[in-house]
Order: sequence, then structure tokens, then C-alpha cells
Amino acid sequence: MHDTLDLETIVSHGLCIGCGLCESIVGVDLVEMGLTSDGQMRPHVKDPMPEDPMATIRAVCPGIVVTGPDPEQVADKGVMHDIWGPIRTMERGWSSDEDLRFRSAAVGAMTALGCYLMETGQVDAVVHVRASATSPMDTDALVSRSVEEVRSGAQSRYGPAAPLRHVERLLDEGIRFAVLAKPCDVAAIRSLGKVDARVEAQIPFLITIFCGGLPTRHTADKIVRYHGVEPEEVSRFRWRGNGWPGPTHVETRDGREFDLTYDKVWFSGDVPWTYDIQFRCKICPDAIGELSDVSCPYAWVMVGGKPVHEEGDGANLFIARTKAGERLVAEAAEAGAIELEPFTIEELDQQHSDHIARKVENPARVRALVCEGQPAPRFDRFRGEQMVAMLGAEDDRRAEEGTVRRIREGANREPLV
Ligand SMILES: Cc1cc2nc3c(=O)[nH]c(=O)nc-3n(C[C@H](O)[C@H](O)[C@H](O)COP(=O)(O)OP(=O)(O)OC[C@H]3O[C@@H](n4cnc5c(N)ncnc54)[C@H](O)[C@@H]3O)c2cc1C
Ligand code: SF4
Ligand code: SF4
Repeated sequence: MHDTLDLETIVSHGLCIGCGLCESIVGVDLVEMGLTSDGQMRPHVKDPMPEDPMATIRAVCPGIVVTGPDPEQVADKGVMHDIWGPIRTMERGWSSDEDLRFRSAAVGAMTALGCYLMETGQVDAVVHVRASATSPMDTDALVSRSVEEVRSGAQSRYGPAAPLRHVERLLDEGIRFAVLAKPCDVAAIRSLGKVDARVEAQIPFLITIFCGGLPTRHTADKIVRYHGVEPEEVSRFRWRGNGWPGPTHVETRDGREFDLTYDKVWFSGDVPWTYDIQFRCKICPDAIGELSDVSCPYAWVMVGGKPVHEEGDGANLFIARTKAGERLVAEAAEAGAIELEPFTIEELDQQHSDHIARKVENPARVRALVCEGQPAPRFDRFRGEQMVAMLGAEDDRRAEEGTVRRIREGANREPLV
């Protein structure tokens, strides 16, 4: 089935994650990323697609193929953890730059590493995302070529972005660059590396988040309207930051300002939006960045065994998954760009237990697609047998039945425009 899938089928069957790599490969004259009526960023095919570039896209599209990490990368050090994947080193920490620590999504781990790579000349550019200057609830794919520009991208954007739309052009330019993006974007780059030898030489660092899923663009509109503001009146929209975790902040052109706490936005249940993530997120084999060099999730404050979201100084984790990632974190700490403290896998289990549930159910969810005769992605090397064993036969069957039910209700169907 994989050899014949076209972009329309990938999109209409809920498999696209909106990375923008297909646009990058064939060029914007043939495929252009744009928002659909569902509020996700998707490729729009403008002309019939020749078979050669479509074969390349099939080999790299994270909607349909993701190959897990190589156990060899932790053969000499660390663990290949059944749930958390390869871990060479793991520490709790933050950016030493107080301003960046305050402004960023958590405490600036990703941006601090990006800035360090630029300052030390290890890369010529950083590929990341930033709020659009003209339309603050939209998110632009950004190529930063200075430390200041990299700093300007510190933020979480809980909405579509197409971060990889410039990758092919940068490979053609011959420059070295780091990518700071979601785990599925990172997976796309790893797959590209298998068909394009330039990737290994020119993209030496992939830095990512833990990811609970990507909401639609509609969520931001609902949040501003909740304040009685129309989207075109908004001059600034910040999901997170300016504190830890920081409020979701709206400013209008006529000077009004509104803040909502993290708990109000995502956990109150009395607001007119939900965490309306795309179907592909529900079958995501790797929302924790197993394929990255460094994953930087939140390090939550725990009370009574649960994360609390009170404002505080905050922390990130630095999970180094490759030798390059381990060296980068160690060098950045040595240079004083970040500060580190010890952190254990037991603490990770507690703080990010939501990701354990998603991991162990993944084989059942993908199986449900196959059983229903739907186009299904190929996720290899994610320790599927161990996941099923950990979940247990009965819960595995329940997870499969639940996904079958949702598929029959059309959960994996998306409009093309
Ligand atoms: C959709 C989404 C879901 C998340 N779910 C979780 C979760 O389940 N658990 C958890 O611990 N953390 C989650 N986070 C991550 C968290 O919000 C922080 O972004 C992360 O801990 C990094 O913090 P930081 O201070 O180092 O980031 P910063 O230094 O502020 O940098 C943020 C980086 O994230 C990248 N980025 C932001 N939004 C997007 C996007 N839409 N697409 C691609 N790249 C993007 C930017 O390019 C930037 O480089 C999520 C973030 C997003 C955007
Ligand atoms: S996942 Fe990325 S490469 Fe695949 S169709 Fe969507 S935008 Fe294109
Ligand atoms: S949950 Fe997975 S597929 Fe969805 S945005 Fe996050 S990393 Fe990508």
C-alpha cells in the first residue's frame, strides 16, 4: 500500500502531520502548504505529481513511515529504555540567561542550545518556528542566521507551523544547520538522511520537545473570542512563557490585555475549546523525540504524585540521545550557557506518565487502522512487542477496539482544503 500512496490520500486519511518537507522537496510551484478548513497545515497539490519526487516523499513522510532509534547509539553508554527510548545522559536544567529563561516556553533549554551552536560556529543557521509578525496567532517556519534571531523564536506554538518547508533549499545552499522542532519533524529529517547523504553532514543537531499533540489553528481563535476579541484585533498572542509555565497571553491593537493560566486553558473543562489534536497524533509512535539528539520536555513540580502548574522558577529536562547530543549538552553546561542538576528515570516515569500510556497503546492503535483496511503508517523499531506486553492483552484489545470505533466514526478522515 505504501508504494502507491499519494499526498491526497495521506492527508485525507489523517496521516499528515504538516511538517512541510514535501513542499520543500518538490518546490512550492507543485505543492504548497496551507491551512485547511480543519485548521491544520497541509500540502495542496497544484499540478500532477511526477512519480520520482513522490517516491522520495513516500520514503521520508513521517505521516507514513517512521523508523525508531538504532540500539547501537547507546551500546557504549546509557540505556535503550522500553518506554523512553535511548538515553545516554539525562539532567534537569535551564538556560543561564535569565531573560531567555523567563520568556521561553519552559526555561529556554532548546533556544539556549540553538544559541550556543550559533555562537560557537557549529552551525550557520537554526531552523525553528516563531509567531507570525503580521498575524500573531499563525506560526511561521523560520531560518535564523544570528543568535538574536534564534532567541526570538523562544516559545511554544500550540498550532500548525510547517517547520521543514525550507530544508531542501538550505541543503542546496550547502550550509550546516540545526533543527529545533517537534518529534515528528525530527523523524522526517532522520528519514531524509536515509535517502540524502547531505543530511548527515549538514544537519548535525536535531533538538526537540515532548509533545502532547498538535491542536488545530481554530483553538487560538476560540481563545481570543473567549475574551470578546476578534482575531483581526490581536497584536500579540503568546501560548506560554513570561513565567513558568506562564499564562496564555492576548494583546489587542487598542491596548487591551488578557491572561489565562495553564490549568484554565487545558484542564478547566469550562472553556469553549478542547485539545483538538489531529488524528495522526493519536497514533504517534514517538512524541518524546527518540530520534533527536536532545529532547527537552518540561521538568514538572510534583505534589501528591501529580504535576502541578503553579507559577515558579521552573525547569526543563535535557535528555541526550546520541553522542552528538551528549557532547552538546556537556559543552553548553561547561561554557555556562545552561545549568544542570541530576534527574532520574523514576522521576521521568512520574512526571510524564501521560506519555507512557500513549506509548504502550500505540501498536493497538495502528493495528486498528490495518484491520479496518485504512491506509496505515509503518512504524518500525519502536519495541512494539514490549509495548503490548506492558499493556497486557486485555487492555491492548480494548485500545484496538476503541480506535476501530473512532475510525468507523470517521476520526481519521480530513478535508483536503
Ligand atoms: C504542540 C506542543 C505540545 C507539547 N506537549 C508537551 C508535553 O506533552 N510534555 C512536555 O513536557 N512538553 C510539551 N511541550 C513542550 C513545552 O511546551 C516546551 O516547548 C519544551 O519543554 C521546550 O521548552 P523550552 O523552554 O526549551 O523551549 P523554547 O526555548 O521556548 O523553544 C521552543 C522551541 O520549540 C519549537 N516549537 C514550538 N512550537 C512548535 C511547533 N508548533 N512546531 C514545531 N516546533 C515548535 C520552536 O521552534 C522553539 O525552538 C509541547 C509543546 C508544543 C508546541
Ligand atoms: S507529513 Fe509532511 S511530508 Fe508528509 S504529507 Fe504531510 S507535510 Fe508532506
Ligand atoms: S503527537 Fe506526534 S505526530 Fe502529533 S505533533 Fe506531536 S510529535 Fe507530531
